[in-house]
Amino acid sequence: MNAFAYDLTHEDWKAWMHKHDLPEWRGTQVMEWLYQKRATSFDEMTNLPKVLRSRLAESFVIQPLNAITTQVSRDGTVKFLFALPDQHAIETVIMRHDYGISVCVTTQVGCRIGCTFCASTLGGLKRNLQAGEIVAQVVAAQQYLDQEGERVRSVVVMGSGEPFENYEATLQFVRLINDAKGLNIGQRHITVSTSGVIPEIYRFADEGLQVRLAVSLHAPNTELRSKLMPINRRFPLPDLMEACRYYLQKTGRRITFEYALIGGVNDRDEHAHELAELLQGLDCLVNLIPVNYVPERNYVRTPRKQVFAFQRILESHGISATIRREHGSDIAAACGQLRAKHLEKLENTTTS
Ligand code: SF4
Repeated sequence: MNAFAYDLTHEDWKAWMHKHDLPEWRGTQVMEWLYQKRATSFDEMTNLPKVLRSRLAESFVIQPLNAITTQVSRDGTVKFLFALPDQHAIETVIMRHDYGISVCVTTQVGCRIGCTFCASTLGGLKRNLQAGEIVAQVVAAQQYLDQEGERVRSVVVMGSGEPFENYEATLQFVRLINDAKGLNIGQRHITVSTSGVIPEIYRFADEGLQVRLAVSLHAPNTELRSKLMPINRRFPLPDLMEACRYYLQKTGRRITFEYALIGGVNDRDEHAHELAELLQGLDCLVNLIPVNYVPERNYVRTPRKQVFAFQRILESHGISATIRREHGSDIAAACGQLRAKHLEKLENTTTS
């Protein structure tokens, strides 16, 4: 199989040209075509010699993703279900906020972490994505937005998969979209979310990046967290909080803690008080996410009144808390839902 063009950094392109006895600035031209002009074929790269264009076409695939479906919500949320070259399906979402447009990308096909409220993990992990396959999601989203004259302002690595279980590719992805000759998305506009893979939190803290970190907590104590997130048995909450303290001290960058509110499970007043105690003294923001109904687990939504009460309790303890706005509620926009539906459909066609 050909390599993916989006896998290569600016330096890699220059090195490739050098290896093929060509001036390195040809590599810069390729970058400009790929990311600034968003070329979909090497043939479009008209300032490159024809022989070079053919050689590139023989060696690289530009866009490895094929849209299976594109759903557009009433609120402007766009959800893509893409097929990869090996026919696995992944999801990417465009969300519109007051502060601009963000894209949520996927880093793995499926996920092995097993969070009980998440559809992405139901079929387990199939494989890691290559950096170029993650970059390709942002490029495809940007190509969609080009038709509206809009631009991707921020990227959240919060789609299917645990980014820190695909650490190298995730970091390569961050560098590629941040590159001035790439998509030029500022590091402060990139957020990587982890379910709490502790060794990689330390590693990430030491990278010297400006990228933001989000940590999925979802419970205020280790017993409840183990029930909701099996990863807590491998990386228990007290050790996770220690890693977060290290990250804060090393980077001076505020952490976002994600907290999915599940009706009757982790959303009571006492949970909010306990959470506030756990986070006392940390420079952080809590993002409250009312979960969607998960039929497989019998999880129900927290009533709206209780969502606000939970937020008020946190704030009364001096912990900043926001409630995540729902995006695309009229389409299957929650993580993994569209892919799960697609797999179900495939299964029905093969068994009927
Ligand atoms: S929430 Fe994230 S880490 Fe947890 S199972 Fe789903 S995709 Fe994996």
